[in-house]
Amino acid sequence: MGRITTSVCKLCRREGVKLYLKGTRCESSKCAIERRNKAPGMHGARRSKPSEYGTRLREKQKLKRFYGLLDRQFSRQFADASRATGNTGEQLLSLMERRLDNVVYRLGWAPSRATARQIVAHGHVTVNGKHCDIPSRVLAPGDVVEVKNREHSLKIVRGHLAEWEKRPVAAFLERQGSESDAPKGLLTRVPGRTDVDPNIDQLREQLIIEFCSR
Ligand code: SF4
Repeated sequence: MGRITTSVCKLCRREGVKLYLKGTRCESSKCAIERRNKAPGMHGARRSKPSEYGTRLREKQKLKRFYGLLDRQFSRQFADASRATGNTGEQLLSLMERRLDNVVYRLGWAPSRATARQIVAHGHVTVNGKHCDIPSRVLAPGDVVEVKNREHSLKIVRGHLAEWEKRPVAAFLERQGSESDAPKGLLTRVPGRTDVDPNIDQLREQLIIEFCSR
């Protein structure tokens, strides 16, 4: 499976916005966007007016990078959104929000989506009581995600939860389980446009549709 090998802060600098890819560092003054908000590379300081194509491309890249997808994964997700009934842009965002790695992140079990992806891929969670290590799995209303009841998995997630519990849980999710139980989360309904992560809700999804439908 392919993965992003470049410094992820460069991705934020390219897009000119915070994509929150590094957890704690993103909230601190060490964030590269706070320190030098210019595109990476020798000519990064020169920001010329982007073409129409460039504007649409950047919007697509922003979404893809925010959720940690590579091109092929994004294309597959877009094809699924196009097939679904309703507004394709909203369907696309809804699919992104319902991905298992995103749900783990938004429940506060991981500091970043990359860590959430790793937690899932390393087999630390179950979906509806069954082992699931597929970060791209799209959840449906009523699905329950639970941390495996074993010392190693609980230690990892509880460690992150202690720090990230303060992060507001998305309205379409519900944290379940007492302190002594393994952490659990329920997807209560299909997320809509207003449920999209506030850090990316300025996104103009119409431009992404135009880009992908060329
Ligand atoms: Fe790096 Fe996070 Fe800042 Fe992006 S938001 S530049 S990933 S520290």
